Amino acid sequence: MPRWSLAAALILCTAAATLLAARTAPPRPTQATAASIPDDAALERADAAYLAVFEVVDDRLVGKHLRDDAAGDLGIACWSRLTTGFPLSYRKLIVQFNIQSGRRWAGRFDGSGANDVGRAGFRLSIAGYLAAEEKDLNDPHRPFTPRRGTLDWTLVHEMGHYICLRTNAIELFSQQFDGDQVPQPARREQPDDYPEDGSPRLSGDFVTSYAERVGGDEEVVETFTTFLLAPELPRDESLVARKIRFFETMPGFPELREHIQRVGR
Ligand SMILES: [Zn+2]
Repeated sequence: MPRWSLAAALILCTAAATLLAARTAPPRPTQATAASIPDDAALERADAAYLAVFEVVDDRLVGKHLRDDAAGDLGIACWSRLTTGFPLSYRKLIVQFNIQSGRRWAGRFDGSGANDVGRAGFRLSIAGYLAAEEKDLNDPHRPFTPRRGTLDWTLVHEMGHYICLRTNAIELFSQQFDGDQVPQPARREQPDDYPEDGSPRLSGDFVTSYAERVGGDEEVVETFTTFLLAPELPRDESLVARKIRFFETMPGFPELREHIQRVGR
């Protein structure tokens, strides 16, 4: 074989591999550094519990106020993770993203309607300790971890508040499973028979201890998180299986599940 044809074959193979990769892999957002984002003095008014405050416009972090440089880097990694897991159409109205101090809250979704510089929208906050404990934090394309108590579970749970609220899933789920007309399974105050590693339960009445104890929006969002992250969906007729499969009936949700399940695989 002449040398040129071997070279041409190699180039073709590379091109084919690139095309294949472009078709199968989820888009990879470029990761900024905290230092590359302009400081925004207006964000200084944000709650003192936030160690890093970012103003968000679509996919970009356009301004920041850091009370802790390390929290700034954790924030960049968490934001990358979020943009890998959720296409822009699912987070359009998020205008502020924070890393918060302490262990009281793993995450918070703030639907009060405005960020700290007066733009209408929603604030999302994640506890710095969860990010700091995350293995491979700086690889936003690792597979999502389907267990409570992890950064991934918390990110998806908090996004669940936003997505379920905006798509009416909270109301529809509640009508189907949690209304006055529907016979309710007893909720225990301190259930202790859920998996210790934080995996959700795919049989029985509730997905997690938190869902059972707190109910309401929190149960909807815990079940949403299970729907997105569980590697397999239960197909039986148990109450919890029907609750999880409720989200298959919501427009766009099966595609979102497929998107997040593909990350890292
Ligand atoms: Zn919640």
